[in-house]
Amino acid sequence: MKQFIILTLIAFLTGCSYQKSEQYDLVISNVNLIDGTGKPLQTGVSIGITEGKIVAIDSIISNSNGKSIDGTGKFLIPGLFDCHVHTGYFERDFPRFIHYGVTSVFVTGGGLCTNDFYASMRKQGNQDSIPAPFVYHTSQHFTMEGRHPAKTYRGSNWRDGETIFYLKDTLQIENLVQKVSQYPIVGIKLTIEDGPAPPFVERMPQLFIDKTVKEASKYGLEVFAHVSDNIELEMAINGGVQNLVHFTGVNIDPHDSIQIRLLQKFVKRNPYWVTTLMIDKSFLYPLHPEWFESKSMLGVYKEAVNELTPELIDRAKIYIRILMDEYGIDENSIEAFMLPQVEDIKFLSDMGFNMVLGTDTGNDFNFPGYSLHEEMQLLELGGMEPVEIIKMGTLNAAEMMNAQDSLGSVEVGKIANFVLLDKDPLENIGNTLSINSVIKRGVIQERIDE
Ligand SMILES: [Zn+2]
Repeated sequence: MKQFIILTLIAFLTGCSYQKSEQYDLVISNVNLIDGTGKPLQTGVSIGITEGKIVAIDSIISNSNGKSIDGTGKFLIPGLFDCHVHTGYFERDFPRFIHYGVTSVFVTGGGLCTNDFYASMRKQGNQDSIPAPFVYHTSQHFTMEGRHPAKTYRGSNWRDGETIFYLKDTLQIENLVQKVSQYPIVGIKLTIEDGPAPPFVERMPQLFIDKTVKEASKYGLEVFAHVSDNIELEMAINGGVQNLVHFTGVNIDPHDSIQIRLLQKFVKRNPYWVTTLMIDKSFLYPLHPEWFESKSMLGVYKEAVNELTPELIDRAKIYIRILMDEYGIDENSIEAFMLPQVEDIKFLSDMGFNMVLGTDTGNDFNFPGYSLHEEMQLLELGGMEPVEIIKMGTLNAAEMMNAQDSLGSVEVGKIANFVLLDKDPLENIGNTLSINSVIKRGVIQERIDE
């Protein structure tokens, strides 16, 4: 390392751009780089990696003795983030995320998420012998008894004080926030909505939202809220919430001056907003068995086609009808669901909101790893530019985790998490599935072989 620094210094002082010949652990040479910052593609880039970190980016780097990957004709992007994940079976799901180039996940609560369960996930994410993404997570859900998520996922193991916190009065919130602040959480998960399915009950009172945000700020913590319509959005903004982990259900009207003023107030907080379009696509899945024919889908995921019983299809139709009424659309095509939402996401992005990719995987027909690529395809379907979509799943996501110093882009000093692609994702975002290799902490990861 010392020798490397001296040689780099000599190169710097003499101003020469001689061919660097060093001993790196790994060099990726002559690759097309999309670095995650939103910059256009750079050609003929070589990257030197030592001890899991990017130590050199130059036009030519040769490796005197270590490993090299010839990147000629290939495309390199930073490792991807899925910023809305639930998993009860992380030992099974983590290798699947890695298979699809998802090298970091943000877990936003769940029926098994005790402090110990979260600790096991983090431990799995930090070891390198079994493929696993880095794990970031919120606190357990702050919600109210009888509301989402306990109402929606009845089978899960919700235990007040362990996997979920039921807010009963504002006085208790001080204690709860103090309790969760002792753990390495990214922020507090606050579930304002009552749940996506009837019977609908009252929303969380505004006072509970205000108090949670206020208490969180005492510990330097931000609140990551779950909203599913415009009223809840307004409540979250008025309560001082900093980030939103769902987009679906919200409807932006650029001609509604009251809403625009509200959003202008919100954007000043530099908020992060997770897209989760996959929730709606997962509801539509039972009506589209052809979606399981994708070449890129893992065989174990294709097996879900066998679960499409007539009862399940009928239930999906009823639920989709409810959603169509809510959205005010009269057909159930994927375009009818997505185009207005992506239009809103583009509008928010232009306003200065930091939009971030997330899927809400863990729900039916929302597949760990694979569905993040579907999320990107839905955004492209609605007219977003691939370079912007990639930034939403890399640098924007890392910033939301406050991990931008070590992750999210291909820059010297950052951890070497990459996805190497055979085809150009800027031509067609579907090419993020042409995965040649996944690299985490400078090491080529084992992908699922079938
Ligand atoms: Zn969720």
